Amino acid sequence: MSLDLDIQRLLRSNEVKQINFTMAGIRVSGHGFWELSNCFSDQTMGHRIRVTVRPALVGPHAEAAYDPGGDKINLRSATVLGTPFGRASVVHECTHAQMDLRGVHTPIRSEEGAAFIAEAWYLLACNLHVPTASPGFPAEIAAIAADLRGQAARAIGRPVAMTPDQINQARRVMVSFRYPTGHYHSDGIRGHRYRGP
Ligand SMILES: [Zn+2]
Repeated sequence: MSLDLDIQRLLRSNEVKQINFTMAGIRVSGHGFWELSNCFSDQTMGHRIRVTVRPALVGPHAEAAYDPGGDKINLRSATVLGTPFGRASVVHECTHAQMDLRGVHTPIRSEEGAAFIAEAWYLLACNLHVPTASPGFPAEIAAIAADLRGQAARAIGRPVAMTPDQINQARRVMVSFRYPTGHYHSDGIRGHRYRGP
């Protein structure tokens, strides 16, 4: 199977489908990941996110990187999707891609916090111990993800809103990771935007 279809299958998995939270104006949902999955194809199509193996374009602590200008996902290797750590890294990058698909402008530290929370949520949904699956992963973020996931299990489809304390905590971790102030600007996937839940 192609890497495109591997990512499509990941985004349609039960583990990704359960992710559903808001962080102030940022919404990350299983619906959004499903909509995003329609942008992955091994065929030519209008609003396709291309997937390439380009290790030089992937940061030292990640297995993947999203390029919002080029609507591309760059992977460290062709086998990234073979491990939970690699798949979680792709879920992180696909959170950025979901924001791009929604065409929203977000504070960098908030969007990064949301992407880390989605990454941890995915590992928890796989019944994995986050520090074992992803050594060095920030414990504060994993704890927020566990709390949101617990609430979501009782919320029956409604997104769980992060509290102001959780938002501040997540943003502080992003400051410690040296993410700058400023905003990410999203423009849709080749003009295609998603405005749904
Ligand atoms: Zn990120």
